Amino acid sequence: MTTQRIPVVEKILSANDRLAEQNRARLDAARVLGINLLASPGAGKTSLIVRTIQALSPQLKIAVIEGDTAPVTIDADKVSAAGAAAVQVNTGGECHLDAVMVANAFNALTLDGLDLLIVENVGNLICPAAFALGTHLNVLVASVPEGADKPYKYPGIYRGLDALILNKIDLLPYVDFDLDYFRRGVEILNPGLSFFPLSCRTGEGVEAWMEWLQKQAAHHRFSADGSASTVGK
Ligand code: MG
Ligand code: ZN
Repeated sequence: MTTQRIPVVEKILSANDRLAEQNRARLDAARVLGINLLASPGAGKTSLIVRTIQALSPQLKIAVIEGDTAPVTIDADKVSAAGAAAVQVNTGGECHLDAVMVANAFNALTLDGLDLLIVENVGNLICPAAFALGTHLNVLVASVPEGADKPYKYPGIYRGLDALILNKIDLLPYVDFDLDYFRRGVEILNPGLSFFPLSCRTGEGVEAWMEWLQKQAAHHRFSADGSASTVGK
């Protein structure tokens, strides 16, 4: 008698990853591009979101999920004032968003008719990298005052990025920030990563980011059939 071995074809997913896949399926069914926006506190995620809404709506219909550790609606109010639908998620002190929180936020949103969903994660460069949300692209907002060593100190989050923004470049003349050192660190972890140095305050460089984002949204609309679904974002 021969023993038959059944190959393990199914990847065993954690509960979070399974729910992230369901989130992804809901976005794909509605043909919405989901962006997981990451940063440390104060890098300018909300400023970037507001700028993006101002530049791209009404051509793109945008909604925002705002993750905050405290029950404050400061960021959600700014996003609403800019003209996008905003859902506030209070993580109750948790330092990252997870797929459950995003699934709950979906229930407060109308995904049909949206083009772009931006999820503003909690300001933190560590654990948000480990929790898939179901979004399609990871975008990190770094900023000049944080210093150029962040790719070296937080390689996990830089490795998983689809685009990198360096905000507050208007401060470069006043801050000791070695741009070459920063870029070398990024290049080692994530070769060829799309990179957008810009200033949300002055508007310098924002156009290239908007173009990239519009291209991603358009590409997604044409290709969204759910078949390219991957977890990890
Ligand atoms: Mg914010
Ligand atoms: Zn955390």
